Amino acid sequence: MGDVDLILDGTLGEGGGQILRTALGLSMVTGRSFRIERIRAGRKKPGLQAQHLTAVLAAAQVCGAEVDGAVLGSQRLEFRPGRVRAGNYQFEVGTAGSTGLVLQTVLPGLALADGVSELILQGGTHNPLAPPFDFLAEVFLPILRRMGLEVDAHLEAYGFYPAGGGRIRVRIRPVGRLQGLELLHRGRMLEHRIYAVVARLPTHIADREVETIRKKLGWEGKSTSIQVVESVGPGNYAAVRIRCEQLTELFTAFGQIKVPAEKVGAEAARQAQRWLQADVPVGEHLADQLLIYLALAGEGVFRTLPPTSHTQTNLEVVRRFLGIPLRLQPQDDQGWICTAGVGR
Ligand code: ATP
Repeated sequence: MGDVDLILDGTLGEGGGQILRTALGLSMVTGRSFRIERIRAGRKKPGLQAQHLTAVLAAAQVCGAEVDGAVLGSQRLEFRPGRVRAGNYQFEVGTAGSTGLVLQTVLPGLALADGVSELILQGGTHNPLAPPFDFLAEVFLPILRRMGLEVDAHLEAYGFYPAGGGRIRVRIRPVGRLQGLELLHRGRMLEHRIYAVVARLPTHIADREVETIRKKLGWEGKSTSIQVVESVGPGNYAAVRIRCEQLTELFTAFGQIKVPAEKVGAEAARQAQRWLQADVPVGEHLADQLLIYLALAGEGVFRTLPPTSHTQTNLEVVRRFLGIPLRLQPQDDQGWICTAGVGR
């Protein structure tokens, strides 16, 4: 294949799947082709894994891209996008790969397309190291709605690692131009909930997680719940949801074999505590996901925790593709400010 508009080094920043997903999303939006080399080169299983490959193929299908190197284990990929086509799509992530990460890949393109899209995504809905469905539905999508983008997501079946079998349905009503966002304060806390979910596992796991979180956060018992759900395989997670005037945040930890429930609960509590103690609205996961939309809006600002390598990576990829002023700077000892646009 011939020349491409951009060449990316897959070992940049976080060095994992993030650079690939963000590049695919922005390539669809801008129409700029790219080549990425050394994909996930430093990882235990380098190159494209099933989940990354699904993301590549999903993006290619949505914009009729020409693709070279889209095979399992590939460390090099060329992607030449065509025009994004809104419509009905079904993506099977398989091996309980995260449906949320496939949505993360195709959403920028479909958000700015010329018609409504309906997606059915099958695979994992609640995976470690990926945005769980609850996070998408309660934290991320409501903020996009505020930027003018209407995305509704429904959970039709829970899917946990490793059995998968989950299913989400997403309806995207595109927006011609995203509105800027200002999210500098979270405002008063209106409600908080501690909850734990189990599928095909004893309920005492969820009880112990919830109790651990409750004690660590020092909250009353009435704002807690446990839920037993159906799924093709076993699964468990614990979460803390905090609704404030300006946004809702959600902190999740996943149960794993040989990890005691108390440890899972403590991890969810730790994340929540860290956010509660810092005077910031945007948590660390929300930051890397939101940054792309702030850049696409071309203006806006949010305050967040010190950036993760995912956030730094996205910042770099966004700068390469969009070439708009985008800054991430420490503001005080607790918070950083992410700003898009020249006027700020
Ligand atoms: P690798 O780095 O091995 O290539 P990957 O591509 O499968 O892995 P990551 O790059 O780790 O996955 O993807 C992480 C994405 O999921 C980021 O956008 C991150 O913010 C999001 N994420 C991870 N955990 C959570 C969570 N608990 N809540 C919300 N979002 C999360």
